[in-house]
Amino acid sequence: MATEARTVPRGAATPSRRTPGRRDGPEDVDENAGSGERVADMIERLGRLARFRGHADRLNAAQWDALRFLARANRYSRSPGAIGTFLATTKGTASQTVNALCRKKLIDRTIDPRDRRRVRLEILPRGREVLAGGPAHDLAAAASEMAPSDRSVLVAALNGLLGTLQRRNDRQSFGLCATCRFFRRGDALDSPGGPHRCGLTLEPLNDAETGQICAEHSAAEKIGHG
Ligand code: SF4
Repeated sequence: MATEARTVPRGAATPSRRTPGRRDGPEDVDENAGSGERVADMIERLGRLARFRGHADRLNAAQWDALRFLARANRYSRSPGAIGTFLATTKGTASQTVNALCRKKLIDRTIDPRDRRRVRLEILPRGREVLAGGPAHDLAAAASEMAPSDRSVLVAALNGLLGTLQRRNDRQSFGLCATCRFFRRGDALDSPGGPHRCGLTLEPLNDAETGQICAEHSAAEKIGHG
């Protein structure tokens, strides 16, 4: 797995353990590599690096996160309330973030025609353009240089870590349909908008929607169920 260039953190012990016959990588000389603190440190550093460019593009971190969320969220989740929950902010802060993105013409706010009490948010073409040159783009480009098998292992590990943290903090999972207990694969084969169905709303879901994150997601007992 690709790792950061600096191998020994300041103050760490001198490298001592090596496996004979094995090519040494950064983690071979880092005695703290397996610690929870090390994982937290690396994730925070990646986040800081990504956000550095966010500020350079005149969007604050919350605005970047909200824009990115809207690009990935399904139709049940593109609302100010879902943004607030996803970002773990107050309603007021989420509302300010949405207002700023609307002013910058990166997203659009309309009334949901099916429920006029609800506001629906959509990312605009300019918002997608900004996102494509945004902080996550660099991270995605670097990740795409990893071996596919390493990337899969990393995604699975980070997904497990995220789930654990969300459970510990009693947070919503915002997961994908494939891991949701309401997902009914192939249940709407003959319906427009299918071939799948959401068992919560009973509406058909197409393949693209199953790859979006959902505010109503409720984890299946076994990951991968459905
Ligand atoms: S199946 Fe679950 S994750 Fe998918 S749309 Fe329905 S509630 Fe959301």
